[in-house]
Parts: sequence; C-alpha cells; structure tokens
Amino acid sequence: MADLVVAGAGMAGLAAAAEARRLGAEPLVLEKLGRPGGSMRLSSGVIWRHRDFETFREECPDGDERLQRLLFERLEDDLRWLESLGAPVVDRETGNPLTAGTRFDPAGLTDALVEAAGGLAPDGVRVAERLREPPGDVPLVLATGGFGADRELLEEHVSPEAGHAFLRAAPGSTGDGLRIGVAAGAATSAGLEQVYTRAMPAPPARISEGDLVRLSQLYARHAEVTNEHGESYETATWSEIDVAQWQLRQPRARAWFTVPVEHLGERVRERTVAEMVDAAEAAGAPVRREQEHVTVETVAGVTTTLGGLAIDEHARAAPGVFACGADAGGIATGGYASGLAASLVFGRIAARAALGGAAVSGTLGERP
Ligand SMILES: Cc1cc2nc3c(=O)[nH]c(=O)nc-3n(C[C@H](O)[C@H](O)[C@H](O)COP(=O)(O)OP(=O)(O)OC[C@H]3O[C@@H](n4cnc5c(N)ncnc54)[C@H](O)[C@@H]3O)c2cc1C
Repeated sequence: MADLVVAGAGMAGLAAAAEARRLGAEPLVLEKLGRPGGSMRLSSGVIWRHRDFETFREECPDGDERLQRLLFERLEDDLRWLESLGAPVVDRETGNPLTAGTRFDPAGLTDALVEAAGGLAPDGVRVAERLREPPGDVPLVLATGGFGADRELLEEHVSPEAGHAFLRAAPGSTGDGLRIGVAAGAATSAGLEQVYTRAMPAPPARISEGDLVRLSQLYARHAEVTNEHGESYETATWSEIDVAQWQLRQPRARAWFTVPVEHLGERVRERTVAEMVDAAEAAGAPVRREQEHVTVETVAGVTTTLGGLAIDEHARAAPGVFACGADAGGIATGGYASGLAASLVFGRIAARAALGGAAVSGTLGERP
C-alpha cells in the first residue's frame, strides 16, 4: 500500500517521489506517457533563480510573494540535493548574468530522479488514465505539467489564437491536474492566461522532440517583430516573455522576425542570430533573404503554462491534494521564472507536507 500517489513523472513529480522515498515513504508514481521525464527531459536543463529577490519580485510582480520567497531561499539546497542523487552537472553558470543556477544534462537528471523515486508504477499508464479524482485514502500530489498540450484549454484560458500554436513540450500535459484539483475543491491561481512560449520556425518546418531547444528563435531583441497585419511589437525583457505572450494572441500565433544583416553576428547566449536563422531555414521554415534584411516566419511554441492551481506554502491545493510544477500557479505570474526550479522546490515541499511533515521547517513530523 503506497503512502502517497504522485500523478506525473516529470520534474515536479519525480522530485516529490524522490523526497518521499528519502523520508522512508513508499510513493506510487503514475505516468500517463509510460516514459519518465515529461518536458524536463526535453528541456535545456537550466535550473535557476534570479540573483536577487527584489529583481524576482520586479520581474514577476503578480506572483505570490510567499511562494516566491520559498523558491528563492530553498533552491540552492535543493540543487545540492539533486547533485547528491547523481544528476550530472553540465555547467554551474546559467550563461545569464541576471540569474544563478546549475545546468544539468536532462537525460541524466531524469535517470537519477527515477532511480531515487524508486521507479514508476508498472501499470501507471492504465491507472493514470482512470485517475479522475483523488484516491481519498492516501494523499495525492498533482504534477501533471499544466495544460500546454490541450488546445481547447489554451483557447479557453489564453486566446482563441493559441490553438494555432506549436507544442514545444511533451504531449502528456493536457490539464489533468487542473481538472482533478478543481473537482476536489482547489481554486485556480492568478495568471491562468499566461504561457511561456518560444518563437519556433513556422510550418512547413519539421521539428522533432530533440530539436525543441536547437530550433528556438530567440532574437526578438535584434529584430523587428510583426504580425500578419504588419503591426509590430518591441520587446522590453531579456527573457522575451513579453513577445511570447504577445505572439500567442496574434492571428494564427504567427510573427515575422526581420533582422538587419548587420545584426546577424549578434550572440544570444551560446548562439548567433545567423545560426538560429540558418537552423530555421534548414528545418523548412519560410525565410526571406534580402540585401539588407532576413525575415523568418515563426509560430509561438507553447513551452509551459504559468497559471494553474492555487497552492499555499505547503503546496496544498485542496484537502489531501497537493500541486507542484506547472500544475501550481502563482509563482512566475506577470513574468518568467525557471519552471524546473519551481518544480524541484515545490515537488519536495509537496511530498513533505503530504506525508505530514512541516514543509517550512523541512522536518518530517507524524504521519497521518
Ligand atoms: C524545450 C524546452 C526547454 C526548456 N528549458 C528549460 C530550462 O532550461 N529551464 C527551466 O527552468 N525550464 C525549462 N523548460 C520548462 C520545464 O521543462 C518545465 O517547466 C518543467 O518540466 C515542468 O515540470 P513539471 O513536472 O510540472 O512537468 P513535466 O516535467 O512536463 O512533467 C509532467 C508529467 O506529467 C505527465 N502527466 C500528465 N498528465 C498525467 C496524468 N493524468 N497522470 C500521470 N501523469 C500525467 C506528463 O506526461 C509528464 O510526463 C523547458 C521546456 C522545454 C519544453
């Protein structure tokens, strides 16, 4: 008999299950896709926070300050814990002077967490399909990765145009956590309409799961960005989250990035603009090269939803129901923060609280 049920074997669910095992409990980990890792496995693996709390608040002003404080204060310890599980570190810098964190190899990170979690339930796919409500007799941790893979929910909560977006994430996150949590009495967080997207090469480009990072078009800061009516948008953030939110609401979620040739050599983190444009062209996206400019047609690539269930500092969403990762909203609201970091920190908190521990002090108390 399991001590808790964890729905979802991505970053948040595996962190919760691994923490539960560390505390001597037996988690039952259900995964709808049958393979672990979710979007974490497809990600760049950079787990980060802002360098100072004030900047975090400024950049994500509508988030719940208590949750943000927990994330900010706990991340370093939690990163050390991940390393202690054998998750392979690629870099101890994020490559961004505004943020601090660690880059892990996503496949190795997944494997280390699966091992620490004690593996997935062998019949997890079948049970996950039937899971419509909390089991009742044991606590439930919802870690299903939000609703970015569900067109109808995107159209309902974000914009009618969001249904045209490309799914730049694993396909299992179709809002099950949101539905189960709300049915159990949970409230939704602020910012249910907010989504983190990255511009991707537009059709007929062919993009496989392994190309989601390599084909991102992250150079709005060096481009003129327009929609299909010729209306333009100028980015004001380093993460380009504002362009992302804008693009998802434009006709067919399309935007054209026009770059003056003299900006093609500019670097955005480890790549030049020219390399990103070449990659889009090689994938088959419409690219127009003129003497003075290059124009790339892009489509918004939904990476993760930022709103979800409302949680307290113990990741509690409803009686006996806990939510973490992209299933929990209210952390990056109004801006962008690391989804992997929130999943790691609140996954561990959810497990401790679900098992009756004092999440804030980090000690395990009496089991219920
Ligand atoms: C290309 C890409 C690059 C990224 N790069 C970064 C980065 O560098 N840094 C960063 O911080 N974030 C990054 N992210 C975002 C990050 O991956 C997510 O924020 C993070 O994975 C969210 O964790 P999660 O556990 O909520 O969801 P996931 O990791 O996606 O896991 C959710 C899991 O739940 C499963 N599931 C869904 N429904 C059910 C159900 N009913 N029952 C059982 N299982 C279910 C899904 O199949 C999935 O496996 C990136 C994402 C992508 C796609």
